[in-house]
Amino acid sequence: MNVNQSAPPVPPFGQPQPVYTGYHQSSYGGQPGSTAPPTPYGAYNGPVPGYQQTPLPGVSRAPPSSEAPPASTAQAPCGQVAYGQFGQGDVQNGPSSTVQMQRFPGSQPFGSVPLAPVVSQPTVLQPYGPPPTSAQVTAQLAGMQISGAVAPALTPVGLGYGPPTSLASASGSFPNSGLYGSYPQGQTPPLSQAQGHLGTQPPQRSAPPQASSFTSPASGGPRMPSMTGPLLPGQGFGGPSVSQPNHVSSPPPQALPPGTQMTGPPGPPPPMHSSQQPGYQLQPNGSFGPARGPQPNYGSPYPGAPTFGSQPGPPQPLPPKRLDPDAIPSPQLNELPPQQKTRHRIDPDAIPSPIQVIEDDRNNRGSEPFVTGVRGQVPPLVTTNFLVKDQGNASPRYIRCTSYNIPCTSDMAKQAQVPLAAVIKPLARLPPEEASPYVVDHGESGPLRCNRCKAYMCPFMQFVEGGRRFQCCFCSCINDVPPQYFQHLDHTGKRVDAYDRPELSLGSYEFLATVDYCKNNKFPSPPAFIFMIDVSYNAVRSGLVRLLCEELKSLLDFLPREGGAEESAIRVGFVTYNKVLHFYNVKSSLAQPQMMVVSDVADMFVPLLDGFLVNVSESRAVITSLLDQIPEMFADTRETETVFAPVIQAGMEALKAAECAGKLFLFHTSLPIAEAPGKLKNRDDRKLINTDKEKTLFQPQTGAYQTLAKECVAQGCCVDLFLFPNQYVDVATLSVVPQLTGGSVYKYACFQVENDQERFLSDLRRDVQKVVGFDAVMRVRTSTGIRAVDFFGAFYMSNTTDVELAGLDGDKTVTVEFKHDDRLNEESGALLQCALLYTSCAGQRRLRIHNLALNCCTQLADLYRNCETDTLINYMAKFAYRGVLNSPVKTVRDTLITQCAQILACYRKNCASPSSAGQLILPECMKLLPVYLNCVLKSDVLQPGAEVTTDDRAYVRQLVTSMDVAETNVFFYPRLLPLTKSPIESATEPPAVRASEERLSNGDIYLLENGLNLFLWVGASVQQGVVQSLFSVSSFSQITSGLSVLPVLDNPLSKKVRGLIDSLRAQRSRYMKLIVVKQEDKLEMLFKHFLVEDKSLSGGASYVDFLCHMHKEIRQLLS
Ligand SMILES: [Zn+2]
Repeated sequence: MNVNQSAPPVPPFGQPQPVYTGYHQSSYGGQPGSTAPPTPYGAYNGPVPGYQQTPLPGVSRAPPSSEAPPASTAQAPCGQVAYGQFGQGDVQNGPSSTVQMQRFPGSQPFGSVPLAPVVSQPTVLQPYGPPPTSAQVTAQLAGMQISGAVAPALTPVGLGYGPPTSLASASGSFPNSGLYGSYPQGQTPPLSQAQGHLGTQPPQRSAPPQASSFTSPASGGPRMPSMTGPLLPGQGFGGPSVSQPNHVSSPPPQALPPGTQMTGPPGPPPPMHSSQQPGYQLQPNGSFGPARGPQPNYGSPYPGAPTFGSQPGPPQPLPPKRLDPDAIPSPQLNELPPQQKTRHRIDPDAIPSPIQVIEDDRNNRGSEPFVTGVRGQVPPLVTTNFLVKDQGNASPRYIRCTSYNIPCTSDMAKQAQVPLAAVIKPLARLPPEEASPYVVDHGESGPLRCNRCKAYMCPFMQFVEGGRRFQCCFCSCINDVPPQYFQHLDHTGKRVDAYDRPELSLGSYEFLATVDYCKNNKFPSPPAFIFMIDVSYNAVRSGLVRLLCEELKSLLDFLPREGGAEESAIRVGFVTYNKVLHFYNVKSSLAQPQMMVVSDVADMFVPLLDGFLVNVSESRAVITSLLDQIPEMFADTRETETVFAPVIQAGMEALKAAECAGKLFLFHTSLPIAEAPGKLKNRDDRKLINTDKEKTLFQPQTGAYQTLAKECVAQGCCVDLFLFPNQYVDVATLSVVPQLTGGSVYKYACFQVENDQERFLSDLRRDVQKVVGFDAVMRVRTSTGIRAVDFFGAFYMSNTTDVELAGLDGDKTVTVEFKHDDRLNEESGALLQCALLYTSCAGQRRLRIHNLALNCCTQLADLYRNCETDTLINYMAKFAYRGVLNSPVKTVRDTLITQCAQILACYRKNCASPSSAGQLILPECMKLLPVYLNCVLKSDVLQPGAEVTTDDRAYVRQLVTSMDVAETNVFFYPRLLPLTKSPIESATEPPAVRASEERLSNGDIYLLENGLNLFLWVGASVQQGVVQSLFSVSSFSQITSGLSVLPVLDNPLSKKVRGLIDSLRAQRSRYMKLIVVKQEDKLEMLFKHFLVEDKSLSGGASYVDFLCHMHKEIRQLLS
């Protein structure tokens, strides 16, 4: 729908909109002369002594002695702290650190140092090869033309100085992960929803039952759930929880004997007046009972059930007798440790099962498209594969709400305590079957908007007076229709061209923005990517620098493109750094790249403009040469100290000088302790956990990074950070800029090429290729009556309404909370409009609009009937994870528990049919709220196990902040898939089982994934044939524990399991490294941490215990 470019008459609506006035403010830069000189180098006055002598780091120093490597780089066992070593990074990197590059007049020819020309040596990629011969070194020296430079190191550099390596030699040296072949023309992997459809039930959403009341088995006649794993009698819940979000390296501590850690539920102590609650009743799950009605597709055994019998494990027991509601009188409850009293009395199968809810939704709603024409429709769950047809409301891939029916009044909302929030993913990627939003071009007049509230034209605007005016659906203002937009109305009052115009018929679409929407009233230049590579000792020694440079040579061909463009419009630049920065001139006319060193990190500037940001295809030869040479130049570096803030500053200044937005890709290894702005100290202190000062662990240790982030946002400079720490690096501080600029953080603890390259390269490829909107501003408008009051995600806000994003990719969400400021109308409902102004990868300024209409209710029951628990949990987790920045973690946890209890108590009081006061009754749509909330409470941020590092917690905290609903769903409640229970030939994913040790059969093999971690658990009694087929060894004992790659074997089981692993990885935005865990092996402790229905050793309650606790809280509120 790229309408023509013909300019319509003078637009009455095309004025610059107040919303984006920020762009015209001086803070957005662009003032000539100050920081962005109008002519290159104009601002860089002064002499440049010493500049022409700029030595190359790594070669300009005396040969290293044979003494031990610098202490701070000594191989600290991963997970063990060796902080004392930080102070010793005093090994100088030769003269470069003392040659202060001065600012110089523009005419100065820079005396750039050409990099070492490539000398013959057949293979570059022999990381551990022999040292070069002296002849080679001489040749290299001759080629480098460095005056005054000391001879290069004669120690084994292990690297030849060969010709530029071809891609072929690269793949020969590094095991090819096979991902190259699958680069889908700049596209990203398919969304999980792109998978085939499951289920056969029609999508008709028959009025869902209101509640899961835990009625007794006699009256309810619950269906026996088909649980797939026999119990493992006597299996303890021992073992501390060990969570290593991205690596597993710490030896798990000794398991405690089962039963020694019978702790109660988490959270606040039982309220004081709660001691004698008669008739405590917890009853079987309504989800299996009559409330749902007959479910033809579940109830019976899962597909493949007949093969259960072949498993050598103990026979599958029938679920034990249901809980007798009267069997748990309250006094006993308060006398016994909760674990004991509940474990023997409450049948886990009788409480709401996430697996069952997911299966039901797949069966009921997965087979037909979700059509968005009806207001207030609750979409299928995120775990259901379904297609979306846009008929006037935004797809749930773009917006999901905690409730699709919101209370008319603030009083009702306060009573229910259900947060009203939308999780918005403005640039979400769609499955290939669904069309991307149409781009509408209104020419010079720009998009049509309401004069008063500035809402954009959308299907809910009402045309009146024969089409000459329209009434705004948000603020009711009557606006004139500009002549060029006029159209007649049909007999229903609808414009006759409504279906020809995306903005009148669809929930999501884009407008081409006019120059009024651009910074400084100038259309933007295409964005740039700057790769900034840490070349300190750790980065070089781990193999990172070499791996990365090799990868970039080919990855640069896959920069994001728009539409059918032959090549990407994005320009690239390169910087390396340790405690000084090295810029590279890679201008296409150069024979060799040139390096310029800036050692004045306190006052960062960019020493070159022309030749720093280049087009990849034009400068390919120079870039390739540079990437070949970087690993050689720094091969012998002894520099262990790094700077960090100056690196970001430099990248941002470079973009500013080039007058474009862009992204910095930072590859960083250590705590930046070198003397420079943003210098950090090691302040990790685990003793602060569970104290009032715990929050400081999550706060940045200096405000410098916030200030820097603000400057980055003003420039549209998004920062993606790849961390490779061997010890504490203060993720909480280093991630401030990525977080505030809409960037991503990746963390590879104890990175080693052999073990981690696949994960890193996979993440890197995806990150570099993904489509990004730059220099973005997002605004959410709502109907009068509610307004957006709070925002969560990776962005910056300088006022209360505009979400500023230096960059926004298709994985990031912004969560918006709404509050009433007036009364809503049941008849007109409530409307949301999310408008995102951004610069596309090709440099086009666009507006993406998403509209969503919600129902409004005067009955609380309607609210509870139209909630979405997954979204609720997403919001609550983000709320809590932000809360730990300011409040003690215990307070945050208590707040969550109280809120959950209030939500459920309000339902019980106002919506549930009268029943015994002792019954726990949950709304049907919220019956998983307790189990999921318990998972949030037990998560590493809110209740860390002994092995969870401060950096891990900070890392997870900021990851969750941007997660969409599908990601938080699986992150908090991992998927556990039995692999040998369904027939091998079955093409579909095996049905999951509940995340509890009781569901594991020791005769089976399971995959567990949570979006970040992937485990393959092998039962001790698994059949020998299975072991042989998967691992190519003859017995369980020969399986290597901790294995991360399955052998490629030509048999159906091996193919199926490896295929499944690939498919799970393809569904997630980050590569999940596989860890093979054997039953009873010490690594099993790690795995058990993810069995979230069980009690955890860090104090997290089991599901059953937490449900009892929640019931008690609710009863408190009701009494
Ligand atoms: Zn309006």
